[in-house]
Amino acid sequence: MIPAAYAVLNIDAAKHNLAQVRKHAPHAKIMAVIKANGYGHGLLRIAQALKPVDAFAVARVDEGIRLRQAGIKTPITVLEGFSCNEELDELIRYQLDAVVHSSCQLEIFAQRPEKNQLSIWLKMDTGMNRLGFKPAEFNTVYAQLQDCAIVKQPINLMTHLANADIKTDDSSSDQISLFKDTINKLQLNTVSINELSIANSAGILAWPSAITDWVRPGVMLYGISPFADSTGSQLNLKPIMSLHSRLIAVKQLNKGDKVGYAGTWICPEDTNLGVVAIGYGDGYPRYAKAGTPVLVNGQRVPLIGRVSMDMITVDLGSQPNAKAGDPVTLWGEDLAVEEIAQCAETIPYTLVCGITQRVQIVEKSALLTSN
Ligand SMILES: *Cc1c(COP(=O)(O)O)cnc(C)c1O
Repeated sequence: MIPAAYAVLNIDAAKHNLAQVRKHAPHAKIMAVIKANGYGHGLLRIAQALKPVDAFAVARVDEGIRLRQAGIKTPITVLEGFSCNEELDELIRYQLDAVVHSSCQLEIFAQRPEKNQLSIWLKMDTGMNRLGFKPAEFNTVYAQLQDCAIVKQPINLMTHLANADIKTDDSSSDQISLFKDTINKLQLNTVSINELSIANSAGILAWPSAITDWVRPGVMLYGISPFADSTGSQLNLKPIMSLHSRLIAVKQLNKGDKVGYAGTWICPEDTNLGVVAIGYGDGYPRYAKAGTPVLVNGQRVPLIGRVSMDMITVDLGSQPNAKAGDPVTLWGEDLAVEEIAQCAETIPYTLVCGITQRVQIVEKSALLTSN
């Protein structure tokens, strides 16, 4: 039985998208970002699909542990590092690399006499004002870390861009120069062996000077554009995820009838209404506005009325023959998730990350072989 709401994952698309990263950054090593359950696509599934990369990045220690317990041997960087001795123990035990970004972590290191246990990325805050050390303190921190017993040398160096998705914003060039200039001035002559990393997906696609020893693509690997003004397919990427459901009821409405909670939609003319089995309980965005496109039998129809937990309603005026059971696509190859994100005033990252447990995941290859 096909469940009402399901997501089809085209795993082959991950390989295509990885090849696109390589095309943009042919000389860089790739750290594939698979945090937040592989952006909603499944942590282990995506790790398996992207196995040829040089490293993975996750946000939290427990995500790294899950990968190791599943037998993944690839280097893994934990982007939030650790914030207590216990987490540091886990990093060492599971051979996970840590981002070092705050003085609390230096205090923890100072209590640890073990030698050469942990590979680190030292993070510079060049303007995002989230994690990292300021350029002014970077030299001191770097020197301190060179004397930390537990830290393996050499130390790698990274920063993160705050506005890389806005191609007209100079602050990315400023961040990139600040990072490189600060590193060039480090009062140590081992700098040449430190590896550097700046670029996320938007950095890879829009800021060539952000492409250094390592790149850290996330969203583009899933076939999604990091930019508000383009879709993944316009950037030669292929979406991995498509979200589907079906019509469960069709009914005739008259001009003036109100649809859904709070009656926010009032029919401007007689029409057919379709009820689709998907809602915010599945991760479909609650704030998708009236007019958001939905594909019924492959044709666009507009969402009308409020999104509820288990259902949405669409205007089937253009499809008088549509009936219960007909297939519906909410986003995917034929309907860009970027467009749906715009209609819901969010970014596509939140949509794919937000798919809930109720949505059954079907891998495309499995689908083909079971038919
Ligand atoms: C999430 C993240 C990335 C990947 O960003 P995308 O926009 O998805 O490419 C890269 N670096 C860091 C530090 C991140 O937190």
